[in-house]
Amino acid sequence: MRPSADIYDLASLTELSEEAIGKVLQDRYNGDRIYTLVGDILVFLNPFKPVNVYTEKEFSCLSRPDWSGPVAVGNEVGSSAHIYTVGTAAFNLVGKDSTILISGESGSGKTESTKLLLQQFVKMASSSQLNRTRVAECLLAANPIMEAFGNARTVMNHNSSRFAKFVSLGLQGNALVSSEIRTYMLEKSRLLSATEDEGNFHIFYYMCLSSNSFFKDVRPLGPLSLISNAETLGRRYTDLEAKATEVLDAFDKLSFTAQQKEGVFQILSGLLLLADVEFRSEEQNHTVCTSLDPKSETTFKLACKRLGLKGKDSRRRLLKTLTTSKLKVNDEDIYSLFHEDKTRLVLNGCIRAIYTKLFDWIIQRHGRPDPGTRVRQIGVLDIFGFESLAINSFEQLCINLANEQLQLFFTHHVIQLEQAEYQSEGLSWVEIPFEDNQVTLNLFLERPLGVLSLLNEESSLASGTDESLYNKLMKHLVDKPKLQISAKNPCRVHPVTYTIPGMVEKNRDKAPENTMEVLASSKLKLLTEIISSHHGSKAKAGNGKQQASAGLQLAVQFRSSLDFLLAKLRESQPFFVRCIKPNRDNAANSFDQEYVRRQIHYCGIAEAVRVRQAGFPVRCTYGELHLLCPVLSFLYGSGRLESDAARVRAVCRQAKLPAEEVAMGKRNRLLAKEERRYCGR
Ligand code: ATP
Ligand code: MG
Repeated sequence: MRPSADIYDLASLTELSEEAIGKVLQDRYNGDRIYTLVGDILVFLNPFKPVNVYTEKEFSCLSRPDWSGPVAVGNEVGSSAHIYTVGTAAFNLVGKDSTILISGESGSGKTESTKLLLQQFVKMASSSQLNRTRVAECLLAANPIMEAFGNARTVMNHNSSRFAKFVSLGLQGNALVSSEIRTYMLEKSRLLSATEDEGNFHIFYYMCLSSNSFFKDVRPLGPLSLISNAETLGRRYTDLEAKATEVLDAFDKLSFTAQQKEGVFQILSGLLLLADVEFRSEEQNHTVCTSLDPKSETTFKLACKRLGLKGKDSRRRLLKTLTTSKLKVNDEDIYSLFHEDKTRLVLNGCIRAIYTKLFDWIIQRHGRPDPGTRVRQIGVLDIFGFESLAINSFEQLCINLANEQLQLFFTHHVIQLEQAEYQSEGLSWVEIPFEDNQVTLNLFLERPLGVLSLLNEESSLASGTDESLYNKLMKHLVDKPKLQISAKNPCRVHPVTYTIPGMVEKNRDKAPENTMEVLASSKLKLLTEIISSHHGSKAKAGNGKQQASAGLQLAVQFRSSLDFLLAKLRESQPFFVRCIKPNRDNAANSFDQEYVRRQIHYCGIAEAVRVRQAGFPVRCTYGELHLLCPVLSFLYGSGRLESDAARVRAVCRQAKLPAEEVAMGKRNRLLAKEERRYCGR
């Protein structure tokens, strides 16, 4: 038998249990064989150390248009399991768009895999174009910026992407002619929740801790609440100076003007300062009145200056929107006064909104539109993994819904593959039962009574609250399978418990309008631009028409983004890369069997296996009959022809193998339900 470390394609395994797969992966991992195939699905085991498999040798062997079949990957001769193999297949696909779907839990290597693929595409395209194009330049430069503004240190990953992205490239022949990046669900709550262990977005640390002179005039002094962990966390950034320089260079490569580049950091500086402004509430004539804490006056003034609100009058107007709200009733302005807690909420909402708009604006500027003629597209989706935290809220609901939906897509794809295999063997297709998550998806997505629709309905009503949402869920969904709603307000959608409090407001995602209006009058051109481009960018996230009619709730945008992705996937050829983390500590040379087995299960490898097992999972050539049953092999006799189907059929009858358990393939293979130690009944 072959040592299991040599099995680079799990489809050739006769035993397909999760344990057997885990064992092969472990043996391969121990030999630094970090890639393994399951048919055409690529499994990547993150080594957490440099492994020498991305050299010119692998690139040139695996990226050729005429490449076919195994070569040598790293120390493994005769393998074709590699990220470049997937990239080449997607790049060389003719007559159809391709989409590469990369999934796995936080820290499993999705973003690094995406980067490897994009680098490969640029290289493959440029070898046919002689020199790199502007499109390629921009594509590569977009990455450091995206990571600086959208990634952060978390307990799971020191460079964790806090958003999902879909990068799509346009090819004409082999020339790269366009690129587009769409981002989804930036975790904006992170801005105001950095802790000792969990950092804020990298860019704040680059700006405040690096000695780069570019930041000289915008770097706020003193301790800053948004990066209160700067001292401890800062020490863990070993490459801070280099990263800061890389980001600044990337802005130039993407042709941001000097004014825009400065504007970006003026805004960030303004946000850092704004977050540090303190307020105090006093009671005057039986009403609470909130004003600026005198010790914050200088900070507030500087924050306003950075945000282009110059002069006393603009500052006063901003302050007013932060401490009061204005309602028009019968053509009359009615003001209500905020308590300082409410002022803080408004201010935080404003910080989150501006940062998100800035992020969207920067990403959109990368875009290199296609030249109009029909181009072939390759898309790469770097999606966040399934999350089940101690407290799960709206964000987890969306993330998990996306994962459920893509999981279903994956399962269907795997079944199709199996079907194709049956056809090529000339067998009639047997319906394969598989664990369908359609029920869970319907719970989320059904209109008008799915969780998302009900949530949207509540968020669109001025009177909608978490409590009214709870009541509606109870009224319409309480009897549904896979859903439990308890009186204490958590809502459990199999297998995660979501907390209802906060959902309705999070979904409304309302930037404080009055405050944003004042900020839109800023003298800082970039700030006015990003605030006014906001609506355009949201509409672009999916189907514009649908959004205009349904408002701008996050779940509505999210759903149309998901529909967009699914439509893309359906009309293209999908390729799957499943990333696996070998241990929780991000350590090299350490393999936690149980932890890996769980990932094999939920990232769909087990699903692929299950689908295969439901059909005829054991496949062998006539020369390998001993793998299926020693008796068969004995009866068939050694030295027999590799193609004597009639003899194999006779041997099966002689061994009394139940007819429904075996099938004779067209390609001189015997397919069976299971391995047998002996035959006959
Ligand atoms: P998240 O969901 O948190 O964004 P992720 O799946 O995108 O996580 P990455 O950021 O791509 O994870 O990878 C995490 C870390 O794993 C990297 O910083 C790097 O240290 C290591 N790593 C990833 N891919 C490789 C690789 N091919 N070779 C060596 N190390 C790798
Ligand atoms: Mg990532």
